[in-house]
Amino acid sequence: MMGLVDRVDIVIIGAGVVGLAIAELLARTRRGSEIVVLERHDGFGRETSSRNSEVIHAGLYYREDLLKTRLCIQGNPMLYELCSKEGIPHRKTGKIILATDEAEQEQLHGIFRQAQTNGAAGVCMISREEVQTLEPYVFGLCGLYSPESGIVDSHQLMKYFEQTAQSLGATVAYGTEVIALEKSVDGYVVEVSDADGEPLQLESGVLINSAGLWADRVAGMAGIDLDGEGYRIYPCKGEYFSVSSRHQGKLERLVYPTPSPIHLGAHAVLSLDDRLKIGPNAVYVDEISYDVDEARLESFFTKAKRFLPFLELDDLAPDMAGIRPKLYRQGEPFRDFIIREEGDRGLSGLINLVGIESPGLTSCMAIAQAVDKLL
Ligand SMILES: Cc1cc2nc3c(=O)[nH]c(=O)nc-3n(C[C@H](O)[C@H](O)[C@H](O)COP(=O)(O)OP(=O)(O)OC[C@H]3O[C@@H](n4cnc5c(N)ncnc54)[C@H](O)[C@@H]3O)c2cc1C
Repeated sequence: MMGLVDRVDIVIIGAGVVGLAIAELLARTRRGSEIVVLERHDGFGRETSSRNSEVIHAGLYYREDLLKTRLCIQGNPMLYELCSKEGIPHRKTGKIILATDEAEQEQLHGIFRQAQTNGAAGVCMISREEVQTLEPYVFGLCGLYSPESGIVDSHQLMKYFEQTAQSLGATVAYGTEVIALEKSVDGYVVEVSDADGEPLQLESGVLINSAGLWADRVAGMAGIDLDGEGYRIYPCKGEYFSVSSRHQGKLERLVYPTPSPIHLGAHAVLSLDDRLKIGPNAVYVDEISYDVDEARLESFFTKAKRFLPFLELDDLAPDMAGIRPKLYRQGEPFRDFIIREEGDRGLSGLINLVGIESPGLTSCMAIAQAVDKLL
């Protein structure tokens, strides 16, 4: 039996960090609007938002005109300010990108020029000696130092957004999977399968698709031609290996290698409790599975050993994995975030957020502002 439950003002699909940041902002800026977040899992952040490096990026790498850069540069100070004000655990650790040979040195100078163009605060090149002074256990012929990079507890961040949105009147409905969408006269009929598998319908004037890895499917449900419009997601896995606790406390800052064309390179990931991980790599996959392939241990070790000479092979153990919602395959041109109101496609009131890979966590508050403006 299918019943039309209600008509609301705004439906947000997905309770990852992006959907929740949007819910929290809209609940504040649109008091009196009925806002519902639909999330198929039984809690928030069960996918990419809890499977990442938790790094607050500083907008160093990408071209200045991209959303990935602009929203990161805007989102970085917003996130620090919120975390300080609300007591969300975080630390401005700073970060060093290291060059270990001549080609990497040249690449690093290119990143430095880009970071300056982007307006990334406080970024500077440092010499081999300065690298040694800051981080005595790492190796680099030179480094790029970013003082505004840091780490955040993404779970506590999402909890803050979820609870604040709820306290401002928004509803977060867990165990509700969106299975179909239909344009109505002045909005969308959203078909949902609830926690008991019962189908029900909800009508909403505005529909915000922040469904992460599944955002292309949701856009497809609304009738968007995924391949024609370049909305198809190609999942790209990032695996992590934990580092033995005997190295705890050796690094104070995030330490990165020079990046590859599809990701920033497996780096030293610091957690707020000083545990160390190496990752992520980048491997395109056909299915969503969070297994870590142990066979990759040696290749992780070899790459990390170049800039973390203290590592031994038996220091590493498989840890966790996350999956990037990439909009391009290996060898294809780099793509920016899609954040788009689809009125010109006859779908007014639908906002799609597709391809929100890194730095989506850093940018979440700036993304929410961009969505608010689109409305
Ligand atoms: C390996 C890795 C490392 C990263 N490191 C960083 C980093 O250090 N710093 C940084 O800034 N960013 C990083 N990122 C990127 C960051 O994690 C993402 O940009 C961010 O988490 C995306 O959040 P989201 O809310 O868009 O997606 P998600 O967290 O994937 O949330 C989407 C939600 O939508 C729900 N959903 C999907 N379909 C439906 C449906 N039909 N009905 C109901 N619900 C649905 C899902 O269940 C999910 O909960 C990293 C990503 C990866 C993979």
